[in-house]
Amino acid sequence: MGLYDLHAHTTASDGGLSPQQLVELALRCGVKVLAVTDHDTIASVIPCQEAAQGSGLEVWAGVEISADVPASEVHMLGYFINPNHSDLRTNLEDLRRSRLERGTKMVARLNKLGMDITWERVQEIAGDASIGRPHIAQALLEKGYVSTMKDAFSRLIGRNGPAYVERTKLTPAESVALIREAGGFASLAHPQYVMSEAKQAGRLINLDSFIEELVESGLEGIEVYYPDLPTDLQNRLLNLADRYKLITTGGTDFHGLPGQLTRLGDVQIPDGVIAQMREWNAARLASN
Ligand code: AMP
Ligand code: ZN
Ligand code: FE
Ligand code: FE
Repeated sequence: MGLYDLHAHTTASDGGLSPQQLVELALRCGVKVLAVTDHDTIASVIPCQEAAQGSGLEVWAGVEISADVPASEVHMLGYFINPNHSDLRTNLEDLRRSRLERGTKMVARLNKLGMDITWERVQEIAGDASIGRPHIAQALLEKGYVSTMKDAFSRLIGRNGPAYVERTKLTPAESVALIREAGGFASLAHPQYVMSEAKQAGRLINLDSFIEELVESGLEGIEVYYPDLPTDLQNRLLNLADRYKLITTGGTDFHGLPGQLTRLGDVQIPDGVIAQMREWNAARLASN
């Protein structure tokens, strides 16, 4: 085990490694199947697949779409999506634009709070990436306004922080529908986060009914193998998966940023899961 990683980011969103570097690392770590899942963008999919060509590493197309829920957000993983699907591309383009607008507003708020960071610097840090709060956090960090990325989120740019600004997001059901429309398999990413963030804001999310509704919208997977997920929570997710006949996906949520200790492939995903997903994809290809 430890041969698969179905959740990894690149410089196309808020990861630290380029698609080529991520593929090189996967090869060095002995990963056999890698799914690249950048936030709200599929720009890394084809570069990763090209970089892996002839290497024996299997790269699955993926995306991680952020969706809105009251007082929190959920991330929907989409696997085997067609990276050329036009509706998917248009929707992701809209999300990217909204990330830009929201980024400028957050910088303005930070300036008002007395922090002298510039939008130009945030853009420089992001490069070609779709702008995310981690880029803003980095700008704060290099100017010494925060001591760590985590500090930036907990004091300033977290959901309930003074510099937080909303951005346009799909609803969870819409994100599932979009993934399906683009030929993909939808899996709910790190379900433990949506509950804890909502709880911090004083709202409780009933995971069972939340998942039940998503299953009605076409959800077919749930992320159950994830670094440092407590066993009791994992068991609860495994039970839910069983009840709703969901495939239990997994990955490290690798970002490859300085200070991030997670290692690529350092998660135990059973071989059977990979087989089930391959079967799912084969059935879809056969039905087209
Ligand atoms: P955004 O997509 O711009 O809303 O930023 C969300 C991203 O910020 C997440 O996907 C994580 O990578 C990162 N993030 C969120 N909360 C934290 C936190 N408390 N500490 C560090 N990074 C975080
Ligand atoms: Zn991220
Ligand atoms: Fe996520
Ligand atoms: Fe992620």
